[in-house]
Amino acid sequence: MNLILLGAQGSGKGTQSALLAQRFDLEPCASGDLLREAMAQGTPAGQQARPYYERGDLVPDELMVGMILERLKNLTDAHGIILDGFPRNHVQADVLDARLAEMGQAIARVIYLEVPRALLLERLSGRYICRAQGHVYNIKTNPPKTPGICDIDGSELYQRSDDTGEKIQHRLDIFFSETLQLTDYYARQGKLVTVDGTQSIADVNYAILVNLGAA
Ligand code: AMP
Repeated sequence: MNLILLGAQGSGKGTQSALLAQRFDLEPCASGDLLREAMAQGTPAGQQARPYYERGDLVPDELMVGMILERLKNLTDAHGIILDGFPRNHVQADVLDARLAEMGQAIARVIYLEVPRALLLERLSGRYICRAQGHVYNIKTNPPKTPGICDIDGSELYQRSDDTGEKIQHRLDIFFSETLQLTDYYARQGKLVTVDGTQSIADVNYAILVNLGAA
């Protein structure tokens, strides 16, 4: 089973992706994580992507698609993949469908986590992430017990370089003007499931499982 989690920044894709990956033994694949890894390692793709990433712009399709296709090559042994942050436009969605078809596979469901912009802004501007494993906190709604330290693994918490001020607005603008159009694309394929992403983590997860016929 191959799934896509579609949603704006701060809609809870990463959190739900981890839960679903565990539940269905899927390979999690977050395009933003792939980019951050490539940038940290200083690979040629990472170096090319950095200026776009830092501005909060979409990284050029050929660069992003190349990284995702590389990741799909290793998919053969897994039960499936769960994509988070990819595709983000029609070009990427078309390439993904074509590549999966070549592999004799397809996307089973696309889960759209719907959250209003005001709540996304609140979540993103207070978001802190742990260095070791990416656990997510929010200084207002879900603070760590000790400021600056992850409750789970004790590592340092940091704010992403693109989770600040105007960059957040810019990234959300791109989501609502460009990426959101993919809901129509997948609705036409009969694959779209829309879930209210304002609920608690457990309730969002339950709603997804119900829609997948697995609750
Ligand atoms: P994310 O962690 O998903 O919020 O992604 C962080 C940043 O990585 C985005 O603002 C883009 O610069 C870049 N990025 C992630 N996924 C994609 C994608 N599918 N296409 C283009 N750029 C992307």
